[in-house]
Amino acid sequence: MDYVIPPPPPPAVPVAEGGLFPVRRVFCIGRNYAEHAREMGHDPDREPPFYFLKPADALTASPTIPYPPSTGDLHPEVELVVALGRGGAAIAEADALGHVWGYGVGLDMTRRDLQAEAKRLGRPWAPGKAFDASAPIGPLAPAARIGHPAAGAITLEVNGETRQRGDLSEMIWPVPALIAALSAHCALAPGDLVFTGTPAGVGPVGRGDRLAGAVEGVGRVEVVVA
Ligand code: MN
Repeated sequence: MDYVIPPPPPPAVPVAEGGLFPVRRVFCIGRNYAEHAREMGHDPDREPPFYFLKPADALTASPTIPYPPSTGDLHPEVELVVALGRGGAAIAEADALGHVWGYGVGLDMTRRDLQAEAKRLGRPWAPGKAFDASAPIGPLAPAARIGHPAAGAITLEVNGETRQRGDLSEMIWPVPALIAALSAHCALAPGDLVFTGTPAGVGPVGRGDRLAGAVEGVGRVEVVVA
């Protein structure tokens, strides 16, 4: 059978050592750092992990991203990104890291005004979270080189000024627990990415701003809002 329209190019993310990591789905975890949950008005002690999705073609390794339409309140959220090399359903926490191919640093770009409206109206978060170029990501680092980071600084600088600062050890649900929880809901697959949540300090950015996210021992993502 032939495709009736040209098939889209397969989404992929560059690997630091060269080559491309093919992406299947992009899962994003909400409120995984207590201080960020509190700054958004939620009690972190009372919530199990939850997730939303971005389309895989929202990923971008471009040095620039457009300021998106339909918002006046664009926020970057710096996040550790987990890249799965093996899939599975109902993965045990003790086995979870064996499914991880590597790690990267991503920005969960958020139209905060649209997200707030969706929360108020009880609607899905898609308009606030899933839009073109809403997932800038730096080159992936294989776990075979860097191991499985459970601690280390996670930071976002805007025009050289630190906006977000936290430590991976502050995750409410560490990576093995997130993989176990996600895989209890749906079978995970090779190529799936997991954005693991953001530390406190989120705020708006505008056109011309230089965003630099970093995770100690993992890498960086740098992008300018055009
Ligand atoms: Mn996020």
